[in-house]
Amino acid sequence: MYLTELRCSSCGRGHEPGRLHNLCEACGKPLLAGYDLAAAGAALTKSMLAQRRDAGLWRYRELLPVRDPASVVSLGEGDTPLLPAPRLGAQLGLDQLYVKDEALNPTGTFKARGMAVAVSMAKELGASALTVPSAGNAGGALAAYAARAGLPAHVFMPADSPRANVVECEQAGARVTLVAGLIDECGRQSAEHARATGGFDVSTLREPYRVEGKKTMGYELAEQFGWRLPDVIVYPTGGGTGLVGMWKAFGELAELGWIDPDRRPRMVSVQAAGCAPIVSAFHAGARVGAEVTEAATIAAGLRVPQAIGDFIMLAVLRRSGGTAVAVSDEAMLAAVRELDRLEGIFPAPEGAACVPAVRELAATGAIRPDELVVIFNTGSGLKYL
Ligand SMILES: *Cc1c(COP(=O)(O)O)cnc(C)c1O
Ligand SMILES: [Zn+2]
Repeated sequence: MYLTELRCSSCGRGHEPGRLHNLCEACGKPLLAGYDLAAAGAALTKSMLAQRRDAGLWRYRELLPVRDPASVVSLGEGDTPLLPAPRLGAQLGLDQLYVKDEALNPTGTFKARGMAVAVSMAKELGASALTVPSAGNAGGALAAYAARAGLPAHVFMPADSPRANVVECEQAGARVTLVAGLIDECGRQSAEHARATGGFDVSTLREPYRVEGKKTMGYELAEQFGWRLPDVIVYPTGGGTGLVGMWKAFGELAELGWIDPDRRPRMVSVQAAGCAPIVSAFHAGARVGAEVTEAATIAAGLRVPQAIGDFIMLAVLRRSGGTAVAVSDEAMLAAVRELDRLEGIFPAPEGAACVPAVRELAATGAIRPDELVVIFNTGSGLKYL
């Protein structure tokens, strides 16, 4: 409704939002959506939001790209709980620890948010078929939303992806190609398939609207805390849509005058020790990540050897005063159990990875005991049995 432009995150070139786009036509970097926030802010108030029940992330529709409400493809995504975690907090030495539990989304992960908006936009702009490379959960989410939209979907995932991801794609009627390789090789095959068949590729940050869906995590967090933000957000990072999306959301909320721009959270990226390009680049002072060779981790969603949006993620970490932490698979698995036994939340290993990261940051004083800290559980442990 108030979408005005798609702007390149690197060279700044504008693109007409009324048709399907992948990367910037000039430089091949990700495009990000821009809105007329003055007009959106005149049409939408905080109290109106409070009255919109049962709409999930579509309660923020003035700040989302879909023009025609009939284009919305929804399975009830968003409105996930923000749970206090006092027993885990005590273990970590923190007075105010919360878990934002994204496992309650359709398909059991936060990938649903991104796909809900990306598939809605693809439908509105006339896509006839959708393809995606996936480490697992993005494929499952695309399969479900494509089925909901009545569009065919083709998912390219590593042959050793979690079994649940293969099954959920097939049950939803998506075609699945199991690839001998990681997400980067899946990405090549998906893009090639899209070119050959005229399908639209909804790969992470290679189309502009999955970020728009994921940014609603940032809106929800602000709203759930009464329009103030936590001191620290700890987030498991793969392709980076969540990190990039939430920071974008905070920028938009600041421009709307709904939050204090000087009180934005420190953003912490958590990666797996066996695949940590953002952590390495952050501590090396590099602007982009180097490709990881032989990436290995049980946290499938974090097995991203090189991300096209790495420079955006690194800029967010630095601008927010945050940091980046790598966690071993052993520590992640121990944290799955710890989070479940202490708080009753059975997390994906990606989400669990936040726990040892916070433990380390609290122990070194990088997070103070009285700070308000939110960790993101991005998915359900049930997908990794
Ligand atoms: C995809 C995925 C991630 C990484 O998400 P990005 O926002 O793309 O960095 C983290 N956790 C789970 C469970 C995932 O499926
Ligand atoms: Zn560009």
